[in-house]
Amino acid sequence: MSNQIRPLIAGNWKMNGDAGSFLEVEAIKDKMAANVVNADVAICPPATLLHRVSAALYESDVATGAQNCHAEAKGAYTGDISVDMVKEAGGSYVIVGHSERRDGYSESNEDVAAKASAALAGGIVPIVCCGESLDVRESGKAIDVVVEQIIASCPDFAASQEIVVAYEPIWAIGTGKTASADDVAEMHDAIRAALVERFGEQGAAIRILYGGSVKPANAAELLAVENVNGALVGGASLKADDFWGIISAA
Ligand code: PEP
Repeated sequence: MSNQIRPLIAGNWKMNGDAGSFLEVEAIKDKMAANVVNADVAICPPATLLHRVSAALYESDVATGAQNCHAEAKGAYTGDISVDMVKEAGGSYVIVGHSERRDGYSESNEDVAAKASAALAGGIVPIVCCGESLDVRESGKAIDVVVEQIIASCPDFAASQEIVVAYEPIWAIGTGKTASADDVAEMHDAIRAALVERFGEQGAAIRILYGGSVKPANAAELLAVENVNGALVGGASLKADDFWGIISAA
């Protein structure tokens, strides 16, 4: 982890969570209040829970965010939510370009950049995701593909405000398989170099999260890697004990 960048541990609940999840939210809030934490922490629940989770975490050290947003401010976009709606529900982050949306909803780099742009314009922090498939990894082209993807997914003015990048190898998401620390180091170094080339000094300050089966047992090793500035956590963010195990590893 680069010492000068404060890590971010963000939980992506995906399409999980219900009224019972508030026990987990309260438990994380209590653990955060009782301990010194060297990381920013955020929870991104489903859109229907965002307002309630934000209210439960009001004035705590845990921020909230959405898992997606529309690039437009309003209009005939059935089923979508805008950046202002995320903000009104208390969110200060939004995940954009998760591989489950790129694959499931054919979101292109341009779509992702437009959403990130809308988030920045609206004053919330986009967490821009990138990552390669297993085929691409096995073909030896992972670095080229991911670097091209992330650069095309970040709007031109991205680094003048806060933006977060998340590297999530698709084959490691929800599979229990984690990229090796060496592979993570190589990819995060390449992403850092590309961000610096594109954004200059400001690119050196962008947080680059790792995501893909992060759990308490592997968090310390992954978070210790140079240029890993936090984690985007799926499954292990649903249970307060697991999520706390990752937060405390930071
Ligand atoms: C994710 O989907 O962002 C993710 C990293 O999931 P998991 O931690 O479950 O692999």
